[in-house]
Amino acid sequence: MELTKQAGIYLHVPFCRSKCHYCSFFSFVPQPGEPQALVAALGQQIHQTANLPEIQELGFSTLFVGGGTPSMLPAEVLADLLALCRRSFPWSTAEPEISIEVNPGTIDKKGLAQLRRAGFNRLSIGIQSLDDNELRRLGRIHSREQALATVAAAQQAGFANISCDLMYGLPGQSPASWDRTLTEILAHGPQHLSLYELTVEEGTPLWDQVAQNQGILPPEEEVLAMMATTRDRVDQGGLPRYEISNYAVFGRQCRHNLNYWHNGLYLGLGPGAVSSVGGERRSGVADLGRYCQLVCQGQPVWTEVERLEPEAAFRETVVMGLRMTAGLSLAALKQRFDIDLPTYYGAIFSRLVDQGLLRWQGDTIRLSSRGCALANRVMAELV
Ligand code: SF4
Repeated sequence: MELTKQAGIYLHVPFCRSKCHYCSFFSFVPQPGEPQALVAALGQQIHQTANLPEIQELGFSTLFVGGGTPSMLPAEVLADLLALCRRSFPWSTAEPEISIEVNPGTIDKKGLAQLRRAGFNRLSIGIQSLDDNELRRLGRIHSREQALATVAAAQQAGFANISCDLMYGLPGQSPASWDRTLTEILAHGPQHLSLYELTVEEGTPLWDQVAQNQGILPPEEEVLAMMATTRDRVDQGGLPRYEISNYAVFGRQCRHNLNYWHNGLYLGLGPGAVSSVGGERRSGVADLGRYCQLVCQGQPVWTEVERLEPEAAFRETVVMGLRMTAGLSLAALKQRFDIDLPTYYGAIFSRLVDQGLLRWQGDTIRLSSRGCALANRVMAELV
């Protein structure tokens, strides 16, 4: 099968036990009956979508159940949804990567064992911090003990591909406490880490708190110290960086996310999910009631459809691809888009290379370590 026909499936569960103070994702605390309505509509959407010719010509190799907090749905319901996806869609491999996001405090050892038996083979655990004060300030529902218990339970359940999400730059966080969190997590042997700097998004309670008191966030020099700690600890822990914010032991890079960074094809299911198939980017309606209604009527759930013009898709592929430490192959880009990158960007490209932000070696361009630290600036020039 051609590379361009490989694809991933993302299934969105928009429920959370409560809303974290920094969260701007499409997620909410469900009302009674809403989980059942979502599951029924997802089942219908899977049936409707799987039969489309543009889906039948794809070969899926990853499924990612994300949220929200998918682990708020019972494990047997998640198992049924997975089984339905396995039966309904065309798969290109007998061993797809099947990930699910779980949050500590929403799933126990029995539930994790059920997920593993059902065929989920990768867990992404939303830990964020192992400091109870930091967790409270973020509005997370779990404690450090629950976070560590979830990691241990996942290992006992037989998961050999565990990712932990952590954040730095948190209110009240010091470089020393970030070091403790990172060191302790690494000691528990996850195969993958996603380490993001906290972003304060407008419209969140955290935004208002910061507007009233900027001093709750660590100063820039402390955030830089946290970044330096990150580099040291992940290197010592044997999890090399493979994307700006992601680290993994050899062979455990997230295949689903690699497909996004390669600007590959993906099908989004559920309210608010985005798809990139059939030459279009389609955004699903981020409203559970409306989503269920549209699915029930057999109508498309898209609120926005954008035709992907080749040049825009090329630029997008460059910007996303540079996030990966492996960088981009100029020959592969030329073959995919019939565009020569150095010629296309001309003086901008030469300047970024001269400034040492981009490294050009043979067929490959990648961000230098300085370019990685200034990634937003580099990407803004190439987008
Ligand atoms: S658990 Fe995740 S999705 Fe849910 S509110 Fe918190 S940050 Fe948002």
